[in-house]
Amino acid sequence: MQHAEFIRFLPNIRSDRFTEFDFLRNHQWFTIYFSYNMFYLPHMDWEKLIEAYPENKEDILRAKMIRGQVGKGLDGLSIPKIDMLKDENTASGILNKDKIPVDDISDICKALWEDMFGVLPEWDTKGAIRKFISEGHIPEVEVEDEAVVHILINAAVKEYMNLFRQHNKDLLPKEWQEGMCPFCSSYPKIAFDSETGRTLFCVICGHNWSFPRIKCPFCSNTDHNLLGYFEADGIDGVRVYYCKVCNRYIKVIDLKTRDAKDPETQDILTLEMDELAVKEGFKGNL
Ligand SMILES: [Zn+2]
Ligand SMILES: [Zn+2]
Repeated sequence: MQHAEFIRFLPNIRSDRFTEFDFLRNHQWFTIYFSYNMFYLPHMDWEKLIEAYPENKEDILRAKMIRGQVGKGLDGLSIPKIDMLKDENTASGILNKDKIPVDDISDICKALWEDMFGVLPEWDTKGAIRKFISEGHIPEVEVEDEAVVHILINAAVKEYMNLFRQHNKDLLPKEWQEGMCPFCSSYPKIAFDSETGRTLFCVICGHNWSFPRIKCPFCSNTDHNLLGYFEADGIDGVRVYYCKVCNRYIKVIDLKTRDAKDPETQDILTLEMDELAVKEGFKGNL
């Protein structure tokens, strides 16, 4: 989308915000989840999402537009090289959060916000980015355009972190036995099962790695009596695997029965499973 077209889109964001706010209030869990997770992929299948959620078409198109703009904001930006993933002060060999270039991500958000609304953001961009990276969710902000904040932070962090990881991919371990991402130390929320085994996907930087089927990614429990799964009628090729030790769950797509390419698209297409898991008392990775 050209800059001029983007500007023409702006009045839409402003005039729609109340609708979107009502929507957020009325469909709390589903929509909050949806706006947090709308965006995190390089190959997101937007058409498939619109087909699955036609009532959310406008939100999906808005997310797609903001994501495109974030991509442009990242163009030409120099992504830092880091020396090592392992911090001398941490035993686990994961990327120290301090090494994540929050200032750069914040600058992208500020520039886009200014493009959209003509003013610099009045909310704490760095704080929101830090919270999203460390806790997987965005703090509530006291601005009318809260929904746009969520979409923007989500897009900027995930796009940036993806590039940041690719730029430093030589540092990633060949073998990794933990459920936590070796690059950004976030946890996965979706995995793919194939004949060769299970692959976990990081929600923040997009890294993926092999992981045993009988092991909880969150607490490393391997007692099969305390691990389980459930399926739902009418939703083929996806299971919720849960752990009774830490009470968390991960969604697993079975590639033998479900045509799936992109984990993030699959994550959104299977939101009903999250709803069921939460109803069962399990905690996801929001
Ligand atoms: Zn990661
Ligand atoms: Zn566990």
